[in-house]
Amino acid sequence: MYYTKMALSALIIIMLSLLSGCGDTTAVPATTVTASFESGSIGAAVKLGSTEWQLTVADDNNNSTLPALWRSWWYVRLDNAVTNAPTTITLKNSGWFYYYLPIYSYDQKTWHRFDEAEVTQNQNNELVVRKQFTQPTVWVARFYPYTFTDLETYLKQIVGNRFLEIQIPGYSQNGRPLYLLKLTDPNSPVVTKKRIFIHARTHPAETSPSFLLEGLINSLLSGSSDAATLLAGAEFYIFPMHNVDGVIAGNYRSTPKSENLEVMWYLDSSNPLNLRADVPQEVAVVQQYAKRLMTDGGPPVSIALNLHASNSEPDIRTFFFPHFGTMAQGYTASQAALWDKQLRFIDLLAARYGADLLEPAPEDGGAGFANNPFPETWWWVNFQDQVMAMTIEMTYGRAGFAPRWVAPDDTRQLGSALALAIADYYSPAAAKTARKAADSTIGRTLLYPAWYPPHAVDELKY
Ligand SMILES: [Zn+2]
Repeated sequence: MYYTKMALSALIIIMLSLLSGCGDTTAVPATTVTASFESGSIGAAVKLGSTEWQLTVADDNNNSTLPALWRSWWYVRLDNAVTNAPTTITLKNSGWFYYYLPIYSYDQKTWHRFDEAEVTQNQNNELVVRKQFTQPTVWVARFYPYTFTDLETYLKQIVGNRFLEIQIPGYSQNGRPLYLLKLTDPNSPVVTKKRIFIHARTHPAETSPSFLLEGLINSLLSGSSDAATLLAGAEFYIFPMHNVDGVIAGNYRSTPKSENLEVMWYLDSSNPLNLRADVPQEVAVVQQYAKRLMTDGGPPVSIALNLHASNSEPDIRTFFFPHFGTMAQGYTASQAALWDKQLRFIDLLAARYGADLLEPAPEDGGAGFANNPFPETWWWVNFQDQVMAMTIEMTYGRAGFAPRWVAPDDTRQLGSALALAIADYYSPAAAKTARKAADSTIGRTLLYPAWYPPHAVDELKY
C-alpha cells in the first residue's frame, strides 16, 4: 500500500514536470556518479544540485580502521553530465592535503589534465574542480589509471617477440595471474649475463611504474643497437603488477584484505633467505622467484628495483630511497659499498633522463629500513651490497615539466632512460662519462629536501 502511494506520487510528479516543460517533452536525465568498474573508487557521492557534487574519497575496501593517509585514489564516471554549464566537484575526506590536478576523459583512452585555473583548494584543504564538460559521459580520476586490463592489452601487443617470455609463476589471492616478463637475447650465453629484477604496483593506485615499465620494455624490444647489446648481456625479470587484486578493486595501497604487501616480507627467523609461511601469496610468489634467481647456479641478480609513486607537493620530482651512507659517516664497508652503488645508479639515471627531472640524493640514507620487512631488507640481509636494491618513487605533479604536469609519456621516457642507465651501470667506461655529466648538475652536498622523511609521503612505508 505504502509503495503504491509512493508510485502514484512519483507518477504525479513526473506528469507535473512534463506539463511544466512548456511543450518540451524531452526529460533531461539526471547526472549520476559511479565507480562500479575496474579500478574505480569513491565513497559517498552526494548531489548538491544539478551541477554540484561532493565526492568522498573512500578507504581501501571501505575499511575505516586504515590510516587516513591511505585515502588518496579515486576514479569515477559521471553519466548524463550537464554540458551547458560548469560542473563543480568538491573532493572530501582525502588523506592528503597537497594540491594536485586530477584528470578526465570522455572515452577512458585519451586523458586530459584539468587546468590549474579549474582546480582550487577551499578553506578545508579540499580540492574543488569546476569544469564545463563537453560530453555527457566523463571519467574523472586522481591520476592516469592503469588497470589489469590495460596490462593484459599491453602484453597482447608485445607477446611473440623473440626476446620476451611471459611466465605466470603464481596467482593472486583472488586467482589472477601474477605475470613475470623475462627479457633477454636467448641466443646469448647465460653465464656472462647480468640479472635485473624489477617489481611494480605493490601499491595498486601507484600507476606511474606501469608507464615506466612500458617505456623500459618498449626500448628493450625496439630493435635498436643499444637494446641488442643490453639484451645480449642481461636478463630482465619484471613483475609488472604485484598487487593485481588491489588494482582491480580500486584500492590505493592494499589488497582486498587490506594488507600492505610492501611491509610483509617477514623473514623466517631460522633462515632469512626464506619468508614466513604466513606471508600473503603475492609476496611469496615474488620472493620465491627472486630467491630462485639467486640460488639456481646462474648469474646472481645485481640490480633489484622496487617501483612506486608518491603523493607530494606538486614540485617534487622523482626520487629514490638509497640506504646507509659513507664509512666517514660511520657505516660499515659493506653498507658504504651499497650506498656507493645506489648513488652511482642515481647519477647514471640522472645523466640519461635529465638531472633536472630527479631529486638529488640525500646526504645520508639511514639504516632504519633494515629493521622493517621491506623487499630491500630481504635483499640486504641475504646479499648485502651484492645486489643494488632500491626503491624509485615517481611523483604526480609538474616538477621538471611546469607549467604542464607530468604525463604518461614522460614516465615512459624515464623507462627508456632506465634501460640506458642499467647498461651504463655495467659499463665502467660509460659510467665514468655519465658520472661526470651528473656531477655537474647534482649537488652531492645537498641535504634531504625538507619534504624527505619524515615528511615524505608515499613511502612512509607502513
Ligand atoms: Zn608505494
